[in-house]
Amino acid sequence: MNMAEPIDNGVLFPAYSKYPVSLIKGNGSRLWDDQGKEYLDFMSGIAVCNLGHVPLKIKRRIQEQLEQVWHVSNLFHIPNQQKLAQMLTAHSCADLVFFCNSGAEANEAAIKCARRYHQRVLGNGRYEIITFEKSFHGRTMATLTATGQDKVKDGFFPLPEGFAYARYNDIQSVEDRITERTAAIMLELVQGEGGVYAADPEFVTRLSVLCKERGLLLMIDEVQTGMGRTGKLFAYEHYGIEPDIITLAKGLASGFPIGAMMGKKKLRDAFSPGSHASTFGGAPLAAAAGLATLETILEERLCERAEQMGAYALQRLQEQLQSYSIVQSVRGLGLLIGLECREPIAPVIQELLLHGLLVLAAGTHVIRFMPSLYITKEEIDQAVDIVSTVLERR
Ligand SMILES: *Cc1c(COP(=O)(O)O)cnc(C)c1O
Repeated sequence: MNMAEPIDNGVLFPAYSKYPVSLIKGNGSRLWDDQGKEYLDFMSGIAVCNLGHVPLKIKRRIQEQLEQVWHVSNLFHIPNQQKLAQMLTAHSCADLVFFCNSGAEANEAAIKCARRYHQRVLGNGRYEIITFEKSFHGRTMATLTATGQDKVKDGFFPLPEGFAYARYNDIQSVEDRITERTAAIMLELVQGEGGVYAADPEFVTRLSVLCKERGLLLMIDEVQTGMGRTGKLFAYEHYGIEPDIITLAKGLASGFPIGAMMGKKKLRDAFSPGSHASTFGGAPLAAAAGLATLETILEERLCERAEQMGAYALQRLQEQLQSYSIVQSVRGLGLLIGLECREPIAPVIQELLLHGLLVLAAGTHVIRFMPSLYITKEEIDQAVDIVSTVLERR
């Protein structure tokens, strides 16, 4: 292609600050733009393409489903949706699944489920959800209110009631916020958008005990950490706890939109017919893509792979970059890795892009690496070299 089309034709709301690049083709950990330039992908569309781009097994299953039927309402049984729910519950501590289309919707379902469980099943009228500073839970009115960052709330007042914010990894600050209105505690076990901060094991253990003692639901937002990203199918497995509610989305169907709220069986009666619903949630195409994704992750032992490659990437980044003056720290869990810098990293990310490496920001000072679970040592070495070249000069 010789003449580049004008990239921004001005008819989209400017809700994103976009790079001047159109990625039009992908394969595995590689992407190509419309000028033919190749990129090494260490963001996976924000932890969505955990199996890389255009994974063959998933593509085939979507193609098969395309030939059968695309959409039927949730007023009918959807066999692949049932199978996906069966498999998710067999491989987690949850017993029940509600399907929707995104992370925000999964968390919205969790918030609604917690409130309705307390109000209709237990009859205690509780509604408040405690969340954490620097958390991220989505962009709907309830989930942006749940999010512990002011920037997502700017200009959207009034916000829904019923949220309180505690300090991450500070059990006393959680206890201080529990009242007779508290229904649940919701958190990420690695804060992804907030800066790649992992929860302390001791904090999580005490949180779990606290929830049991006070009759609160423990809700873990695994929208980013789930589906093998951290080296386990779900991040909560690292912590030896059993959440009451787990939410999923991003990597669940390899790029096909889907979300899920999973819960313990005591929550069954929180939703009666008509109390919550989603037109598209878990419809045939999404369910087929989700089922193929989960089967692939399990069959090919991709969680173990993520654990090993994550350890390798962390070690390589630490060895090569720790001594650079701009580098504050390198940390991570599995293939969710953060490189904290001593200065804002937006210009670094731009430069990495010019060098053909796609990474994400997490907050203002952390570069976030989330490659495909199929990433190889060679690709990790290549990425580390590019980061090294760019940071060395700063
Ligand atoms: C991305 C994300 C969400 C929101 O997901 P959407 O699909 O964009 O609505 C919620 N929670 C966490 C932890 C996320 O990373």
